Amino acid sequence: MLTWRRTHRWCGACREELADVPGETARRCPGCELYVPMGLSAAVLTAITRPGPAGGADELLLVRHAYGPAELWALVAGYLEAGESLEAAVHREVAEEVGLAVGRVTYFGSQPWAMSGPGTLLAGFTATAADPTAEPVVDGRELTQARWFPVDSLPAELPPAYSISRWLIDAAVTAARR
Ligand SMILES: [Zn+2]
Repeated sequence: MLTWRRTHRWCGACREELADVPGETARRCPGCELYVPMGLSAAVLTAITRPGPAGGADELLLVRHAYGPAELWALVAGYLEAGESLEAAVHREVAEEVGLAVGRVTYFGSQPWAMSGPGTLLAGFTATAADPTAEPVVDGRELTQARWFPVDSLPAELPPAYSISRWLIDAAVTAARR
């Protein structure tokens, strides 16, 4: 909120200094009445699973990013583009980042996330690999690695317990054990 206020100081239309609107996450221009609500950025996270080998546990796709904590195994994620539904963003991000098609895209839950800047809302989804034999392909720029892990032997470097990423990973493990 503080960062947003600092970076939204002046009216974009008439250059007057904006004032906070009491009780709202918004500012208003005293000169021209321009109303400036805090813009939310929505991003999607997807936990993709596939059946494991005969007799083996289901597998979960985890990826490593080129930016941020590079050792962390995380989920495929990305910001929405203008005019896109959450579900469409899931299909696009998964296709772009790891070259896979997914099915059974199911809403899981959401979490406001201030770590990557003001006003980010994360929406979590579960999905299954449309082709269970397909292997992920990473571009080497945004992602450095992508791998299927059996849910009973996930790596130790997972997202923190307070993150929706981790809740999704834990839910995938629980679902696979049923
Ligand atoms: Zn103005």
